[in-house]
Amino acid sequence: MAKLWYPVIDYLKCEECGSCLKKCTHGVYDQSKAPSPVVINPDGCIDHCHGCGNLCPQGAITYVGDDTGWNPPNGNKQDFEESCACCSSTDKKQLNVDFLFLDLNTCERCMATDDTLNEAVDELSPILNTLGVNIALNKINIVSPEMAEQFQFISSPTIRINGKDICIEVKENNCKDCGDLCGDDVACRVFVYDGKEYNQPPKAMIMNELLKAIYIPQQTSTETIYSLPENLEKFFNGKAASSCEGNCSCS
Ligand code: SF4
Ligand code: SF4
Repeated sequence: MAKLWYPVIDYLKCEECGSCLKKCTHGVYDQSKAPSPVVINPDGCIDHCHGCGNLCPQGAITYVGDDTGWNPPNGNKQDFEESCACCSSTDKKQLNVDFLFLDLNTCERCMATDDTLNEAVDELSPILNTLGVNIALNKINIVSPEMAEQFQFISSPTIRINGKDICIEVKENNCKDCGDLCGDDVACRVFVYDGKEYNQPPKAMIMNELLKAIYIPQQTSTETIYSLPENLEKFFNGKAASSCEGNCSCS
């Protein structure tokens, strides 16, 4: 098991063929989302395995922690050859966008944020590509307190650009859908943009943050000691209790 090795999907390249989900037998991908690849269990990924990346026809998969010199065999390699025929590295700047969420089946807030993020990235990508900037969009379903800790997850949904939360502070209000999922009262993220609060981030907010990440020097975030917010603890406990249906002694 590898804590620092897991696949990252470039959703702008992915054509949802489902090959990566079929290939992996380690529960890394959420099979219920097939053929769309959503990494649900990064800890399950086997250190230095390139199994899904080698199969991807679009070269859409890279790996966090990969220091092997491996290149995606298809799309990325082709891009690289097209972008520069005479040197061994591309000049492209990379924006890593992480979308972290609790649920994409029931929670309207997470689903709407996912849709808006996709639209923002789709619209900006061609322009940024011309400017020599590549966007890699990574979607991570946080399914346990352990994953929450690993990703320092404090509120759902979260969008980070190059590791930095697009929200300056955590604001939340009651989320009926997540409450229904866990059988308790749960609060989820509220996005503040131009002095107003939204249950899903306006597209303009995401686009602004992407552009800021390119043109305004970003402060490196200081490391903080993580503790699971009470709100998320309630969510995971409630979900676990509702899924065991009284067949164990966890209650
Ligand atoms: S690299 Fe291997 S273990 Fe990791 S997700 Fe891909 S196929 Fe599964
Ligand atoms: S193999 Fe590549 S193109 Fe196919 S679903 Fe996975 S990431 Fe997308």
